[in-house]
Amino acid sequence: MRFDLSANCFADVDVRADTWAVIGADRALRWRELEEQAHAWASQARAHGFAADVPVIIRGHKEAEFFVAMVGALLLGAPFVPVDTIYPDERMQRIASTLGAQTYFDARDGRFVSLNGHGAWVEFEAVEGAVSSTSTSTASAPPVLREKNLAYVLFTSGTTGEPKGVQIGRESVAALADWMAADFALGDAPVFLDQAPFSFDLSMYEVFGTLALGGTVVLASRALTTQGSAFLATLARHRMTTWVSTPSFAQQQLLNPQFSQDGLPALRTFLFCGEVLPVALARQLRQRFPAARIINTYGPTEATVATTWIVVDDAVLAHHARLPIGHAKRDAEVFVDAGELCIAGAHVMRGYLNREDLNAARMFIHNGQRAFRTGDLGAIDGNGLLFCHGRIDDQIKMGGYRIELMEIDAALRALPAAASAAAVPLRRPDGSVARIVAFVATGNDDGRLPDALQDWKTLLAARLPSYMIPSELLACRSLPVSVNFKIDRAQLAQDYRDVHFKAQRQHNA
Ligand code: AMP
Repeated sequence: MRFDLSANCFADVDVRADTWAVIGADRALRWRELEEQAHAWASQARAHGFAADVPVIIRGHKEAEFFVAMVGALLLGAPFVPVDTIYPDERMQRIASTLGAQTYFDARDGRFVSLNGHGAWVEFEAVEGAVSSTSTSTASAPPVLREKNLAYVLFTSGTTGEPKGVQIGRESVAALADWMAADFALGDAPVFLDQAPFSFDLSMYEVFGTLALGGTVVLASRALTTQGSAFLATLARHRMTTWVSTPSFAQQQLLNPQFSQDGLPALRTFLFCGEVLPVALARQLRQRFPAARIINTYGPTEATVATTWIVVDDAVLAHHARLPIGHAKRDAEVFVDAGELCIAGAHVMRGYLNREDLNAARMFIHNGQRAFRTGDLGAIDGNGLLFCHGRIDDQIKMGGYRIELMEIDAALRALPAAASAAAVPLRRPDGSVARIVAFVATGNDDGRLPDALQDWKTLLAARLPSYMIPSELLACRSLPVSVNFKIDRAQLAQDYRDVHFKAQRQHNA
């Protein structure tokens, strides 16, 4: 059994309908059950006012119900908006207000929850065919979106401090699934590892791969993935064939000797995306998993998960000190314009929600197709292989997470006594970001944080997800600016190193 993304319905319903579709953190579902429950979810959502082109926020973390809700939303034609619990309430509220949403679906307890006009959450009973409320206010679904036939809207870090809603059409996810089926050689009914939060578009590989290929998805919660051997044993028990993650996540697993072909005998494919795949990591994986193919894919959320790909075999490893991102996928075009990677094809987003300014700056038409300026520095070698050489702007990747430093700046500046503050990435020699620190200008040289900032981490956590919170906040007289009057983050990183090394030298003396 599978889900036909073009026809928008379950297909081959008599084929292997009793095999597992979803192994959730809470419960497991067979394909037949997924079909029944997704239809039931769609009628429940309809009763709460959701319909085609009306976005529905789904909040939770790796519950089978989260997957059911996404499929139910597809059946209904309602674009789903996945929000992992890694996002604090305030961020969720910003997303809800961008959409004009007053109701969301909470996958943790399988209920629609309403946000009343004063910002307090009011719960609604999940009653089939009726809406009943624990308060007097009535839930209403958000307005219909201008863009029609979207599959999902995914919010990424935004420079203004507001997350940006990337609108992905149904034609784009169908193209993603067609590409996976045609080129990834994942075999019949692949079993996917799904580890990235659903609010991170990497996880859409597993969602649409499972649906289109009639596979199984193993939803691995943060609690499970930190359990080392128990995590790997779970994957082995479900005969996981297809590992999908950022390179950072796989790197962490290498610490465990059971992360090997013997420990995961069914594993045949590593599918990477989201950040640079280091040569050293690919080499170690080749040794530990001689039977597995490693696929490096590249692309921004704005172009439906990934756009380029290359199978990283021994020949590729032998020829490159820094891995290429490969070639454009079928039916897509990638080219370098003034040093910047540009992407064209049906998989390019329909635009950022309500951000005509950004759409005008980043989107254009190329050979009759939607096209997007990525902000990535790119190059093509003599063999037509594409390379990504980092960013033009202040967007970074840390541990696989996409972060706009300006979003952290905005959150810092909203703190008391921090009107002038900036986030600074500290990089390893290979350019990857090890951690983020922050500076606040206090107007004097004593290096003391104002009293109002003693609790700064807790204050920031109300607004930012944990992966965006700097590890240290340092006081300085003023923030240095570069020639173009932007905050000089490189200078601040240098200042940090100077202070750090001076302290270390004093300690060692
Ligand atoms: P996201 O929207 O979270 O998928 O992040 C997209 C950004 O991550 C891209 O614009 C690149 O800067 C970076 N990125 C994604 N995949 C790769 C890759 N395979 N190699 C290098 N950078 C990558």
